[in-house]
Amino acid sequence: MVEEGADDMTSEWMPQIDQTRCTGCGDCISVCPTGALGWQNDKAALIHPDLCTYCAMCEAVCPVSAIELPYLICIKREGNSTDLS
Ligand code: SF4
Ligand code: SF4
Repeated sequence: MVEEGADDMTSEWMPQIDQTRCTGCGDCISVCPTGALGWQNDKAALIHPDLCTYCAMCEAVCPVSAIELPYLICIKREGNSTDLS
């Protein structure tokens, strides 16, 4: 997604866990280096979002692709040009 003028991060841009897909294997909780993930009703959940460093290890390890890390691309306009680099 590309948005102009976005100046803050919200929970919308934290790891999203689809609890309907989650089988409760616990792999993401085990691999998370910061302890940001934990259990909620026998499913994985981001229980400490403040600890998440967005390393993407949880997304990579999930065997059923239940975790998605959304990315926000911000464009800073200077004058009349748009720098996408
Ligand atoms: S790795 Fe995937 S299936 Fe396993 S607990 Fe985490 S979100 Fe659920
Ligand atoms: S992105 Fe990294 S720090 Fe954040 S919940 Fe997933 S494994 Fe933990």
